[in-house]
Amino acid sequence: MTSWHQRATDLTLPSRPVLGGRPVEPRTDATFTSVNPRDNRPLVELPACGQPDVDRAVTLARTAFEDARWRHRTPGERGAVLRRFAELVEAHADELALLETLDTGKPIGDTTTVDAPGAANNLRWYGEAADKVYGEVAPTGPDALATITREPMGVVAAIVPWNYPLIIATWKLGPALAAGNSVIVKPAEQSPLATLRLGELALEAGLPEGVLSVLPGEGATGAALSAHAGVDKVTFTGSTTTGRRVLAAAADSNLKGVSLELGGKSPQVVLADAPNLDAAAEEIAWGIYYNQGQTCHAGSRLVIDDRVADEVLARIAEVARDLQPGDPLDADTQLGALVSAEQQARVTDYLDVAAGQGAEVVLGGHAPDPAPVAGGSYLVPTVLDRVAADTDVAREEIFGPVLVVQRFDGSEAEALRLANDTGYGLAGAVWTADHGRAERIAAGIRAGVVYVNCFDVGDLTVPHGGYKASGFGGRDKSLHALEQYTEVKTTWRQR
Ligand code: NDP
Repeated sequence: MTSWHQRATDLTLPSRPVLGGRPVEPRTDATFTSVNPRDNRPLVELPACGQPDVDRAVTLARTAFEDARWRHRTPGERGAVLRRFAELVEAHADELALLETLDTGKPIGDTTTVDAPGAANNLRWYGEAADKVYGEVAPTGPDALATITREPMGVVAAIVPWNYPLIIATWKLGPALAAGNSVIVKPAEQSPLATLRLGELALEAGLPEGVLSVLPGEGATGAALSAHAGVDKVTFTGSTTTGRRVLAAAADSNLKGVSLELGGKSPQVVLADAPNLDAAAEEIAWGIYYNQGQTCHAGSRLVIDDRVADEVLARIAEVARDLQPGDPLDADTQLGALVSAEQQARVTDYLDVAAGQGAEVVLGGHAPDPAPVAGGSYLVPTVLDRVAADTDVAREEIFGPVLVVQRFDGSEAEALRLANDTGYGLAGAVWTADHGRAERIAAGIRAGVVYVNCFDVGDLTVPHGGYKASGFGGRDKSLHALEQYTEVKTTWRQR
């Protein structure tokens, strides 16, 4: 088989916005450069879509919604199109995976086994669900019949980050399209390529023209969508700072619906009686280092009983030794490049701050030397021990391969206090052999997803989203995601 390096050289890169399903010339001269973090060399120049292209996409989406070319297809027909879309993603899985790796620095071994198949699975799951969701009949008296039905909201803008571009785009596209909406996707400037290709496949799958657009651009493109009076709903995943801006823009414009999936600082609570410390350490290591630590629900804080901390940290160090960064295009690489030089600098700045605030760097803390590919953005797995709860690295999302360790003295109450001592509430885990303690701590952690004696497992059947500053207004994944993209209508009939 041709090597991934050769295939990367031969690949045609998308470079135009997808408007209503077709790649078209943009109405802007502004551009930005898609950079490959593997070596930080430019990949392709893309249009930075501004207000004229946003207006065009909104008009196409609105027209398609008003003439009902998609929403009035039966749910079964919409489901069939989404399932064909999933098949096309599978047929182009290698190409999509390669685009994703080039844009983000993720290992090709991950994008071929997780990201591209995950995107197909997301579209198929919502395709299968489309004609299996029923409305309700209200328990009125005999003189009335009241039905409660769900209707599509209209034009949905999906603003997507760079850490899982295909997976997060399809978490949003699947339920939004299944419900009958038109959708405009704004990928992150670091990672537009696979999503643009995804947008091109939609027409081939049978999605009517106009229903789906993908607009490459910078923050201004997302801001224009958030403030647009013709957009009925924004679904956003990214940083808490930008999420607040999206919410403010929605409030200041047409009060469009807003759902935000935001950052995290998720605790892994390890009690001294954790059943298998070796297995726990392995999952804790993967729970922070997978995807180079750039996962919103990464288990980035280890809240651990002092009596077992040294043993668990020693095992994490062993796992990390086998998890050294490699060339993202090598099939056996497990840890790739961070998404950009900026992100690498951001994480490195946090390490400098941590050292100044008394944290002990007990593992890593630097770029690999030599880098797997010259000029690329790489960092080795890092552990910061004895981190005080009031320091920046304990409180802020680092979004890199950095595990922060907070030790406690054996008290369950102290463990829970530390776990919840954060403005975030996306995920958490508890490791203990005692069922009672497991239940108490799982119930006590203020987060949208809690794992017991495991981490980062699950599937599309369960919702994903956060409490506190980690989320707002709905959930991704599962049938609950359909609530994000539908209005609830009561129809009362007096008999
Ligand atoms: P952002 O939250 O800024 O980016 C997410 C998306 O929002 C991108 O598509 C971005 O476009 C878009 N965007 C930027 N500005 C606006 C705006 N004013 N209105 C609407 N949309 C906008 O994240 P960053 O890329 O800046 O990453 C910074 C930090 O955010 C990371 O270090 C990490 O801590 C956190 N983050 C968290 C994620 C999570 O899943 N929890 C995901 C990504 C980042 P563009 O890329 O073109 O600017």
